[in-house]
Amino acid sequence: MKKVALIFGISGQDGAFLADLLLKKDYEVHGTSRDAEINIFSSLTEIGIKAKVNLHSATLTDFHSTLQVIEKVNPSEIYNLAGQSSVGLSFDQPVETLESITTATINILEAIRFLGKSIRFYNAGSSESYGNTGELPADEKTPFRPKSPYGVAKAAAFWHVSNYRNSYGLFACSGIMFNHESILRPSRFVTKKICQSAARIALGEISSLKLGDIQIKRDWGWAPEYVEAMWKMLQQENPEDFVIATGKLSSLNEFISCAFSALNLNWEDHVIRDDILYRPSEIKSGFGCPIKANKKLFWEAKTLMPEIANIMTLKEFHKIKNSNFKKP
Ligand code: NDP
Repeated sequence: MKKVALIFGISGQDGAFLADLLLKKDYEVHGTSRDAEINIFSSLTEIGIKAKVNLHSATLTDFHSTLQVIEKVNPSEIYNLAGQSSVGLSFDQPVETLESITTATINILEAIRFLGKSIRFYNAGSSESYGNTGELPADEKTPFRPKSPYGVAKAAAFWHVSNYRNSYGLFACSGIMFNHESILRPSRFVTKKICQSAARIALGEISSLKLGDIQIKRDWGWAPEYVEAMWKMLQQENPEDFVIATGKLSSLNEFISCAFSALNLNWEDHVIRDDILYRPSEIKSGFGCPIKANKKLFWEAKTLMPEIANIMTLKEFHKIKNSNFKKP
């Protein structure tokens, strides 16, 4: 009998890579979008798996909709990767962010509890809940001091998962994931914006790139490796939360430099600082300690920042070049 998995947010970066991983592990994979009829699922198409997954519409802020899809699919594993995922946008849409992350997570937990079935649940937690980590990397015991509506929503969802695990004995856990990138990152994210702009500059389409604070430091990993950690968490004997990170800190400045160097460009000739792009509050530095995941999940990040910026930029370059070539 095939295992059945349900991925909330299958259209996103992580949803697509997780679906791919689970298909390779011979799962029957189901996934949701807010409107599966109109969504074109470009990420699933790009990695060639759209026809292999079962797609459903579900609105996680609606308990009935959440319950209905779980009952219909009858999964043994649920992964919640849906919700408003942009830190920047969360300052403009704090309520939508809170509801799509926190209320949604409670609805899934309540639905699992209501159905009384043995379902394992993974929740996408975020390093943004920590706020600044300072000189030391954050681990599972580091307190949350979020600095954005997104970080607050993720922190609240994390504690609901923990509470349902302890109060009702659900197999529910959160991965406190640090930033992870890939060729499927949506364009609104700064890493993708940098790589895409470097490619367009190299192709002569634009000449400059406007950015906010480029001194911030982050822990950047590779998304296909991070979804492996999600799956591993649900294969454990007991449900536990894990920090998933590379443990390495790089500045945005360094990311920009690597992306531009991939196309033999000097970033200083093209990057313009724009005060409008600064956020109301920004995490200056955030990195994680993946030792628990190394030891218990036998998981380790292999693809690190310079290589990530390089792969993403070259992919963008060839994608734009090929699409220009096809234009009449
Ligand atoms: P994406 O933004 O790529 O995908 C999230 C999906 O959620 C979208 O495809 C969309 O699906 C759905 N969604 C978007 N906005 C809303 C909304 N307002 N209400 C309800 N659903 C919405 O995210 P990732 O794949 O990168 O991340 C997966 C999860 O992991 C997210 O919860 C994210 O916050 C979290 N995370 C990601 C990190 C990263 O670096 N990538 C780091 C830490 C945590 P549709 O339009 O089909 O409904």
